[in-house]
Amino acid sequence: MRLYNTLTKRLEEFKPVEPGRVKMYVCGPTVYDYFHIGNARPFIFYDVLRRYLKYRGYDVVYVQNITDVDDKIIHRAAADGLTPQEVAERYTQAYFEDLERLGIQPADHQPKATEYIPQMIKFVQALIDKGYAYVVDGDVYFRVKRFPDYGRLSGKPIDELLAGARVEVDERKENPLDFALWKRAKPGEPRWPSPWGEGRPGWHLECSVMSISLLGETFDLHGGGTDLIFPHHENELAQSEAAAARPFVRYWVHNELLKFQGEKMSKSLGNFEYARDVVARYGKEAVRYFYLSKHYRTPINFSPEAMADAQRAVERVYHLLEEIDYEQKRHDGRGLKLDKRRLTRRGKEFLRLIEQTRREFIEHLDDDFNTAAALGALFELVKEANVFRQQMAPEDLPLLKLTYDLIRELGGPLGLFQESPWRQAKSELEGQLIGILIDVRNRLRTQKEFELADQIRTRLKELGIELKDKGEETIWSYLSTDRS
Ligand code: AMP
Ligand code: ZN
Repeated sequence: MRLYNTLTKRLEEFKPVEPGRVKMYVCGPTVYDYFHIGNARPFIFYDVLRRYLKYRGYDVVYVQNITDVDDKIIHRAAADGLTPQEVAERYTQAYFEDLERLGIQPADHQPKATEYIPQMIKFVQALIDKGYAYVVDGDVYFRVKRFPDYGRLSGKPIDELLAGARVEVDERKENPLDFALWKRAKPGEPRWPSPWGEGRPGWHLECSVMSISLLGETFDLHGGGTDLIFPHHENELAQSEAAAARPFVRYWVHNELLKFQGEKMSKSLGNFEYARDVVARYGKEAVRYFYLSKHYRTPINFSPEAMADAQRAVERVYHLLEEIDYEQKRHDGRGLKLDKRRLTRRGKEFLRLIEQTRREFIEHLDDDFNTAAALGALFELVKEANVFRQQMAPEDLPLLKLTYDLIRELGGPLGLFQESPWRQAKSELEGQLIGILIDVRNRLRTQKEFELADQIRTRLKELGIELKDKGEETIWSYLSTDRS
């Protein structure tokens, strides 16, 4: 398996510290608002990365933090007349709800910054003791000059970084690049006692301490969006390696950003949509597909057209699953066991395509998680299966079941195509009522009352419910393309 490492700026063979076991950490949300559809990109991508590593047989420990003390939370609390804790609790809960809406499996550990204050204080003290940090009026800064590797992750020489940082000169710092590890509390702010007076941790510190506490001083993979490379991850790396005197992270992985009309989608620009609203409009699988149909290291543009395309693509797969499922039900499980010798020539060719699809899918994901190419291989199979099933010899029927199972299997790591192919009635009662109407309509048809029978069908269609006659049987589905 190969993946791109931001630290070395090249594709590398993936080898975890402990064979067969992957320890990964991904920067989580700052809980001061619902997250936007751009934030959903890393959450979905690392969810898929983790699922895929498991699919490939790795044991995975996944940690994602929750930043529940931060300037943005303090400002939001002041604006809403709430305490910072109340704001953090409200949006932490909303965060978990939204993960579920997106079909994202929660991490194994979701540490909150405020639960790790004693460890953070210890960490800062160790940096002070080693000469890597200094105290000014209750603030503690990291001494960037003491860490010669600074700038390695972002690939920027210190001089260039300095030129950028000079704009906001702070007299109290030895060097403009020095960053706060610990901040003295201002009136009304959340605070904890420390050897340097009452205060709170800096954001970069939080991630280092939580990741090291849960995964150890060296772990395999650290993820986040490219916007976090500098300064957040650069600072995490510097302070962690200064404290432990050993490599912090083996592979730094960064997803590219979601754009809206060419600009980064962000709260500060105001060009965002909440993830929960987008899911409500297009369905969770359309959102996942929208991201996964591109490589994680390419920027993506958000648009209603792209979302509608994603929705149609997902629909195409479910349509095939539905058709296959129907075929299987019709045969009541008879003649579905695969006997390769009985296949027609065309069937044998199709079997080769099925086997090739699994191989290609895995090859693409092994190659820096190329979900776009992997989905491409899967869609090629869907296209061919649609042609194949139109004029299929009965001996080849088992191949449809094989196709069905493969789509389910490969969809697993992507978190796609796992729902029932049949639209579920929104309530049991609704299902029963539609069932009654179908029975009545079929009675009318046997009595040659076609006009009345058609009326039932037309009027149900107006309500968004479609009836399809398949041989003896009538099945129904919702017309809308929203599946979640
Ligand atoms: P934040 O709450 O801003 O710290 O962001 C949480 C996560 O979302 C981080 O991994 C960011 O890199 C990521 N992120 C923020 N904006 C975008 C965007 N427009 N596209 C993709 N990822 C983003
Ligand atoms: Zn972080």
